[in-house]
Amino acid sequence: MRHAVGCAAGARLFPAAAMASLGAGPAPKAVVVTFGGGARDAETFAPEGQANIPLLLSQLIPQATFYTQVINRGILGHYVATASLATGVYERFNNFAATQPENPTVFEYLRRDLKRPAEDAWVVAPSNGFGGIGESNNRLYGTGLGARVILPKHLLAAAMRGTTGGAMTEHMLRDNYETPLFDPSPTGSISEQDLHRTAELLDLSIEDFRAHAATLNSPDELSFYIARQIMRRAAPSLLWITLHDIDIAHSGAFSLYLEGIRRSDRLCAEIWRTIQSEPEYKDRTTLYVLPDFGRDSDEDSGGNGFQHHRTGDPLSRTTWMLVLGPGVRQNVVIDRPVDSLDLVPTLAQRLGFQARFARGTPLTEVLS
Ligand SMILES: [Zn+2]
Repeated sequence: MRHAVGCAAGARLFPAAAMASLGAGPAPKAVVVTFGGGARDAETFAPEGQANIPLLLSQLIPQATFYTQVINRGILGHYVATASLATGVYERFNNFAATQPENPTVFEYLRRDLKRPAEDAWVVAPSNGFGGIGESNNRLYGTGLGARVILPKHLLAAAMRGTTGGAMTEHMLRDNYETPLFDPSPTGSISEQDLHRTAELLDLSIEDFRAHAATLNSPDELSFYIARQIMRRAAPSLLWITLHDIDIAHSGAFSLYLEGIRRSDRLCAEIWRTIQSEPEYKDRTTLYVLPDFGRDSDEDSGGNGFQHHRTGDPLSRTTWMLVLGPGVRQNVVIDRPVDSLDLVPTLAQRLGFQARFARGTPLTEVLS
C-alpha cells in the first residue's frame, strides 16, 4: 500500500540537483505543521484516500522528500503525542492534565543555543490543553526559554467577550473533540490586557480579528489566520502549527472527518504558499508536515475504526511525514521506517542547535 505512494508521486524527478548548500545565505527557518489530530493512511495516502489530499499530492509531494512510514511508539493522546514530537522523547504525562513536558522542547534548544529572543519561536495550538507545550519543566532549560504559545480559540473567546456575535463563532470555540466536558484551561480566560498585548504584537485590530473570524469555517482556519499574522509580524525562525479539525472524527461522523482532512490538505498548501510569498521565509524555510498519529483500523475488534485512537494497533501508530525546502531533495520517497522522535534531532541539525536529550535519530536523507 505504501509503495503505491511512490507511484502516485512519480519517479524521482530532481535528484541531487536540488541540493543546495545550507549555511550559505540567510539563517534557515522551519515551520512544523502537525496534520490534524489523528489521520489514517486509508483516508490520505492509500490509493482509496488520495482524493482527500489533492494538494499534498499535486503541489507539495513533488517538491518534497516523503517518508511513508513514521512510527509513533508513544501514548496516543493529542497533547502528550504533540509534546513528544516537540521534545524528541516519548513523554509519559497524563494527556488530559494541564502540564508541561518533562524534557526540553525544541523551542528551548533553539532559543538557548542560538541565543534567540522569545519572539523567535511560536506555537499555534488548538486547545487550552496545549497551553504548556512551549516550555518544559526541565531545570536546565524551562523557565523563560520556551516558545510563545498562542491559543487562537482562547484569543477569539476573549475578543468576543461582551459582544453580541457569540453565536456566529460558537463552532470555532469548541475546545476538544475527545472529551467535550474537559477544559483544562491552565490560565483561565485571557485578561483584557493580555488580549491587547497579543493583538499589538501581531499588529491585529481586535475589531478586524472578530470580523475575520466570523467569515471562517473552522478552528484550523483560525489557526492558519493567526499563523500567517505571526509570520508577517514576528517572522520567527521556528513556527509550530498544530491543526486539529480532523479529530472531529470522535463524533463518529465520517463525512466531517474527511472534511477535516480536505481542509488540512488545503491549509498545508496555503502554508507553503505563504512561506514562499513572505520575504522573511521565501527560499530559506523548511516545511515539515506530519500527523501526530493515526486512528484505529476498521479490522481491530477492540476499536471503532476511524472514530478513535484507542487500540494502539499498527495503523494508529503509523503515519507519514513530508519535508520540503532548500537543500531537501524533491520528489523522493523514503520507505524505511522512521520514528516520530526523529523530527527534533533533524530540526536541530538543520537549524544548528543541539537537541541534547532527544532520543530520535536525525533523518539523514534531508540533511546535506
Ligand atoms: Zn483524538
